[in-house]
Amino acid sequence: MIMLPLETSLKQYFGYDQFRPGQKDVIQAVCNQQDVLVVMPTGGGKSLCYQLPALLKPGLAVVVSPLIALMQDQVESLQKNGIAATFLNSSLNPNEARSRRLSILQGNIKLLYLAPEKLVSSGAKKFLQAVSEKQGLSLFAVDEAHCISEWGHDFRPEYRQLETLRQQFPEVPTIALTATATEQVRGDIIRQLKLKPPKIQITSFDRPNLYYEVQPKQRQHYNQLFKFIRHQNGSGIVYCLSRRRVEEVAFRLEKDGISALPYHAGMTDGNRRDYQTRFLRDDVQVMVATIAFGMGIDKPDIRFVAHYDLPRNLENYYQEAGRAGRDNEPAQCLLLFGAKDIHTIEYLISQKEEEKSQRLARQQLRKMIDYAEGTDCRRTIQLSYFGEHFAGNCGNCDNCLNPKPIEDWTVEAQKFLSCVARCRERFGMSHIIDILRGSKNKKIEKNGHHLLSTYGIGKEKTTEEWRNLARSLLHQNLITETTDGYRVLKLNQRSWEILRHKRTVYIAVVKSASEKSVSSANL
Ligand code: ADP
Ligand code: ZN
Repeated sequence: MIMLPLETSLKQYFGYDQFRPGQKDVIQAVCNQQDVLVVMPTGGGKSLCYQLPALLKPGLAVVVSPLIALMQDQVESLQKNGIAATFLNSSLNPNEARSRRLSILQGNIKLLYLAPEKLVSSGAKKFLQAVSEKQGLSLFAVDEAHCISEWGHDFRPEYRQLETLRQQFPEVPTIALTATATEQVRGDIIRQLKLKPPKIQITSFDRPNLYYEVQPKQRQHYNQLFKFIRHQNGSGIVYCLSRRRVEEVAFRLEKDGISALPYHAGMTDGNRRDYQTRFLRDDVQVMVATIAFGMGIDKPDIRFVAHYDLPRNLENYYQEAGRAGRDNEPAQCLLLFGAKDIHTIEYLISQKEEEKSQRLARQQLRKMIDYAEGTDCRRTIQLSYFGEHFAGNCGNCDNCLNPKPIEDWTVEAQKFLSCVARCRERFGMSHIIDILRGSKNKKIEKNGHHLLSTYGIGKEKTTEEWRNLARSLLHQNLITETTDGYRVLKLNQRSWEILRHKRTVYIAVVKSASEKSVSSANL
């Protein structure tokens, strides 16, 4: 095996700079031929845990995945990244299937996706035997592994047959992955798949020792930053969006008696290395940096991370803020948030070439703004971004320590959700709010939505109040939003409970219309 640092391969194959929590340990274990059970929230990055080892190890990796549609998507997106992946399932005609099998036997493929019922057929077994003798099998990955358990929510009997594979190829490591595993399901997966004493990786994305705070930018927001840093004892990072701002802030901090150095991609390698070493050695307290800084640096006792500008998305924010407090001691994360930043990022997005990547970037920006403006527990919002449910009241974020007044908005939520239902779950937040407030815009008339019974039933609340409700519904997972860039609202099981009067909705209310949201910009 090639002994490059795993981060190098991560960057090379996937373009990411850092592993998410849990990924690296799992990848190392699989590369060392150990069986692994991975429990990670949806969206947490489970696929990478077998995709990267599949690329690093010799031979073919076999991925079992229950959904044919999903399989095709995954394979296509891997191929787009230049990764040799393919799938075999019942949707292919015999010729196509034959040519794919040939390509595998010629050693051109690193990852093969299979439906479970296919995998255990006698033809497939013979085929895998041939592959195993020719170039070897690198691993088995069992996605949605809870399907093997009757205790899970999605039992699939075919999964039970997978153990015969284990018997056929006992030396090939198996990695089982799932987002939902109770103790019982977990045990079932290990037993049914006959995992040899596996590494069990259960990853929550919560970082309980980090305090999260968002402050609206005042006119002199440098002073806000200065005040924040003056009260800190240990070292920290200040993130800015541009090189110029990095230089500027570092200079001012120095002038105000706080030792600080700049760090950005425009500096020479030598300079950067030198500054980084000084920071690691605590010769300097603050690194003022663009996002170029921090990837792969290992300083566990960073006590604060301040964002002087808005990050482009919550993923970056989570990673950057997450560089604080790796030693699990308390640390503080401050985000300064101003309307101007939105326009800067929007401008950057408009420079992207592809329409689709612009759309996705806008949606991500929207989620970032929702976080910054959100009244829910900051942890709840961050973790819901990764598909992890967190009950709130963490006691360690600004919204939990200084809660806005909580009110029962069940009736309003019912109005909102029934409007989503009336629009057949095909529209986004702004449009729903326009209908509720009885707006006269063209899009409403074109769709005949002025004729809906929910048209104009929400006039007594401002747009911002409705937005706050909608945001809160999203953050509390009481409604779902599509993630393909179009941000269409969809009802989920919990939405229906609200509509059926089986669930109450509490939200933290925003102040009156005069304290207007900075993000009314129609993203
Ligand atoms: P899961 O299977 O756990 O639901 P996925 O494997 O589909 O999640 O990953 C969710 C998203 O996170 C994907 O868009 C993936 O590309 C992205 N992702 C995974 N690992 C990383 C990483 N280390 N850095 C940034 N993005 C990542
Ligand atoms: Zn909180």
